Amino acid sequence: MNTKAMFNLGYGLYVLSARSDGKDNGCIVNTVMQVTDSPLRVMIAVNKANHTHRMMMETMECTVSMLTEETPFDLIRQFGFQSGRDVDKFDGTYQTERGSNSLLHLKDYVNAYINCKIVQTTDLGTHTLFLAEVTDADVLSAAPSLTYAYYHKHTKPQPAAAPAAEKQAKTAWRCTICGYIYEGDPLPEDYICPLCKHGASDFEKVEI
Ligand code: FE
Repeated sequence: MNTKAMFNLGYGLYVLSARSDGKDNGCIVNTVMQVTDSPLRVMIAVNKANHTHRMMMETMECTVSMLTEETPFDLIRQFGFQSGRDVDKFDGTYQTERGSNSLLHLKDYVNAYINCKIVQTTDLGTHTLFLAEVTDADVLSAAPSLTYAYYHKHTKPQPAAAPAAEKQAKTAWRCTICGYIYEGDPLPEDYICPLCKHGASDFEKVEI
C-alpha cells in the first residue's frame, strides 16, 4: 500500500479556537468540511492531545478562522507548534475580534470565520470527530484560502539548497508536515518532531 496517496486528498488550514474558564486558545487543524446545508453543519477532527480539544469537550463550542495564502509560517508556528497549556497564543501578535458566541476569531490572514455549536462527538481513538452546527459566519476578505498543498509548497521552510559537489552529502530526515530536519540516520522509530509533534512516519529521508 502506498500511503502517499493520502497526500493527494484536498485540505485547507484553519485556526480552531475555543474559550473556557475565561481563557482563549486555538490550534491549527486541516480537517474541516461542510457536511449538510439544512441545518448548516460542519465536521471537524481534532487531536485529543490539543488543549483546544479539551476546551471544546467542556464547552461544546468553537470557532473556525479560515486562513489565506498570505499566512506566514510564524502564524502556523504560533498556533500549531506550541501548547495553550504553556503560552497565550492570542497574545496580540495577530489581530482578533470576539464573535457573537464570545469566542475569538483571527482578523489577520483570515478570509472568513464560522461560529460552531457542537451537536455530536465521535471517538476516533487519537482524535475526536466533532459534528457542529454553524450559528454565525462572515466573510472578511476575498483573499484565496490556504490549502494544505499550498502550505507544503510555499509556506513552510524549504530544505536547504543542495550542497556543493565537493562536500559529502549527509543523510537526514525531514518532517513532511513542518519541514524540521533531523540530522542523523536512522531516524528512531519512536521519534516525535519537536516542532509539530508528528511521528516518525511523517518523516522522509533527504540528503543535506
Ligand atoms: Fe514537524
